[in-house]
Amino acid sequence: MSSREAVTVIGLGAMGSTMARTYVAAGHPTTVWNRTPGKADGLGAVPAATAAEAVAASTVVVISQVDYPAMFESLADADLQGRVLVNLSSDSPERLRVASTWAAERGGTLVTGGIMVPPPGIGQPGSYAFYAGPAEAVDAHRATLEVLGRVEHVGTDPGLAMLYYQAMLNIFWSTLISYFYSASLVGSAEQLRPYVATMLADLTQEGPMGFLRILTTQLESGEYPGAENNLHMQAVGSEHMVQAFTEAGLDATVPGAVAELFARADAAGFGADGFAALVEMVRKP
Ligand code: NDP
Repeated sequence: MSSREAVTVIGLGAMGSTMARTYVAAGHPTTVWNRTPGKADGLGAVPAATAAEAVAASTVVVISQVDYPAMFESLADADLQGRVLVNLSSDSPERLRVASTWAAERGGTLVTGGIMVPPPGIGQPGSYAFYAGPAEAVDAHRATLEVLGRVEHVGTDPGLAMLYYQAMLNIFWSTLISYFYSASLVGSAEQLRPYVATMLADLTQEGPMGFLRILTTQLESGEYPGAENNLHMQAVGSEHMVQAFTEAGLDATVPGAVAELFARADAAGFGADGFAALVEMVRKP
């Protein structure tokens, strides 16, 4: 008998199947269920015939499906009494709050989570997930959750896990999509890559190019000094950036959205301020 806590994994897509494999490898008695049969083959876990049976097998039920409605559908007939559902699926913060009430009405406890690595990163050094919901539930099963990666419990409001997750995903997607645009403009991703790598590293350094720290100070203080880089100059420059894409016959949706934000801030009177004044357009759309 394993001394490790029994775990159920619901949803055996790319993420869930890797989570199940990771639990099996760590010695956790692992029960699995997936809507489409056959996905449990070769995982080394115990396949349950129904979702209700899978939930009955373990106190902790880790869920990884496309979204939260999948959980509502899958667990409609399951007895959630005394169960701790740890849902690592994507959805909106508000949907997570609704789901927390849904679980409580059925006698269960919902811990929401947003996992910050793709399948190959699960359980590897550097892997982490944001968790939200009751601290007691997170603490009671911390060792089990840590098998997947570091536990970052960001608060008891169940929506917070997806607030942090979506905040990070926005940076991941928008940064890398910008790379797709720029690589297309240059015509060679390989040619551009070393310059992009240097820029991304510089952003997080201390010193005059360490914009993450510099702009954080400005976002926190609400002061956006523009003497060296005024916003009006950047609004004009951002139009040139859009023109470069259209001249090259490329799509300019994302550069255009950036230029539009600059233009609005300029028109709103922030022309003499710095770049970070754009945040005012975000806070008051
Ligand atoms: P997949 O597309 O590989 O798997 C989706 C899973 O959801 C499948 O198990 C599928 O079941 C199940 N599912 C979909 N709809 C329903 C439904 N109505 N009822 C029951 N089950 C359903 O996705 P991933 O495994 O890649 O992602 C899972 C979650 O993790 C997503 O929310 C994703 O945003 C998030 N995530 C993904 C990352 C990644 O890199 N892949 C990284 C971080 C988070 P079936 O086999 O029957 O279709």
